[in-house]
Amino acid sequence: MAKKIIPALDFKGDWNYSPAPEDTKHINLQKQYELFIDGKFVKPAKGKYFDTINPATEQVIAKVAEADDSDVNKAVKAAKTAYDKVWSKMPAKEKGKYIYRIARMIQERAREFSVIETLDGGKPIRESRDVDVPLAANHFFYYAGWADKLEYATPNRVSKPYGVAAQIIPWNFPLLMAAWKIAPALATGNTVVLKPAETTPLTALKLAEIIQESGLPPGVVNIITGAGKTGAALVNHPDVSKIAFTGSTDVGKLIQKSIAGTGKKATLELGGKAANIIFEDAPINQAVEGIVNGIFFNQGHVCCAGSRLFVQESVADIVIKKLKDRLETLIVGDPLDKNTDIGAINSKEQLNTINKYIKIGKDEGAEFYQSSCNIPSKGYFCRPTLFINASQSHRIVQEEIFGPVLTIQTFRTVEEVIEKANNIPYGLSAGVWTDKGSKIFNLTTKLRAGVVWANTYNKFDPTSPFGGYKESGFGREGGMHGLMGYLKF
Ligand code: NAP
Ligand code: MG
Repeated sequence: MAKKIIPALDFKGDWNYSPAPEDTKHINLQKQYELFIDGKFVKPAKGKYFDTINPATEQVIAKVAEADDSDVNKAVKAAKTAYDKVWSKMPAKEKGKYIYRIARMIQERAREFSVIETLDGGKPIRESRDVDVPLAANHFFYYAGWADKLEYATPNRVSKPYGVAAQIIPWNFPLLMAAWKIAPALATGNTVVLKPAETTPLTALKLAEIIQESGLPPGVVNIITGAGKTGAALVNHPDVSKIAFTGSTDVGKLIQKSIAGTGKKATLELGGKAANIIFEDAPINQAVEGIVNGIFFNQGHVCCAGSRLFVQESVADIVIKKLKDRLETLIVGDPLDKNTDIGAINSKEQLNTINKYIKIGKDEGAEFYQSSCNIPSKGYFCRPTLFINASQSHRIVQEEIFGPVLTIQTFRTVEEVIEKANNIPYGLSAGVWTDKGSKIFNLTTKLRAGVVWANTYNKFDPTSPFGGYKESGFGREGGMHGLMGYLKF
């Protein structure tokens, strides 16, 4: 009897996932947002507003108040009064209860927060739902626990809060960065004025609603929106005693200059350009997933992104082949679709910066490769990009691109890769992939990076400190170390 021939499956054909968009009907957004000062939402003194847009559609989501010097003054005054009259006198255990309450309220409204984070910033809903929002709640839970146990964090030393903390955050993890800043500041007894980034203010303003509802005494947390000028006015206010900044190295340097000699304490969490190192004995398929997660998570808008890949020469061909195959399966598109792997670039400016670096990389002579995926015609999108055979001296290797662009270099020996990985102005994070524990220990002691992941990448936990060396800044956030930036002795 003739055998029935079953045709081979054609994965290159028309295999598409059906759209699985997250519902947006359950979220509640206003047309206009005010400043959150002294427990109330108040209009900006000059009556100025700016638009925040959805980078996936280029549509305006809401108008947001622009704080000027007098609004900054008002917010700092509210924070100072709240510190002097209420927060510095409240028993630590009571402070802890408020922080727990905020954590629980974020959990209760997790779905709403995830959708708004994705709408305002462009990141895939899977990431805001599974990473940003749960981690933000966890930070509040974790630091709530420290509030009445500070003497165990600093045994035999008497610590005091600074007073008013000015906190300035970037647009890549808007709610999570707000949590990283506010939770330890409150647990250590400081009061806060926080400025979110211009392109992603909405989840911080939603957090302000939670803070108001939680009954936290007015003025303990103030959230003011605006551009860089608002941030500068906040940094330079004389009643601010502590500055916690996360953002670019350029702005970090400006801040350091402007506070020199003032006695203000600063922690600066700045840029990065991490080496992700694959040895020939690494589990290759896992490593390829780690490369993808390292650089394409959050469109590569990650300070600790594994943006410089180093592959041992003997396995370079197979790793690059598998990586190219994997790139073809990545879905770039609607951030609200649960199938999407890579969402929208956060702003037009950032897309221009990424495209500028893609041009520089081509001009420098590295081999350019992009996946062939479709990208939406409206909105700011970028295909996952590789530059193969990049050199240590290339600008695309030395400078932070902050987008879905990976440079690839090869190496032969452990000494060579350590030297190349460290030969860069930044030192925030790194990744090592190998079967050998001894190699991991060797590299973790020699790589000048604040965080080194082994056989994994981009793992975050509130109990674990995070921060950089060199131009990646100073100070640690997260864990017990995260308390120290908010305490003086
Ligand atoms: P950015 O331009 O430095 O902005 C960061 C924040 O500072 C924003 O809120 C910004 O306001 C404000 N700002 C701008 N100029 C200021 C000034 N002169 N004084 C005070 N504040 C000012 O950085 P970004 O582009 O938003 O974020 C990307 C950078 O953040 C990358 O370099 C990334 O590596 C870094 N980052 C570091 C970490 C870390 O933990 N090390 C984490 C996340 C991101 P506007 O938004 O209105 O400009
Ligand atoms: Mg926006």
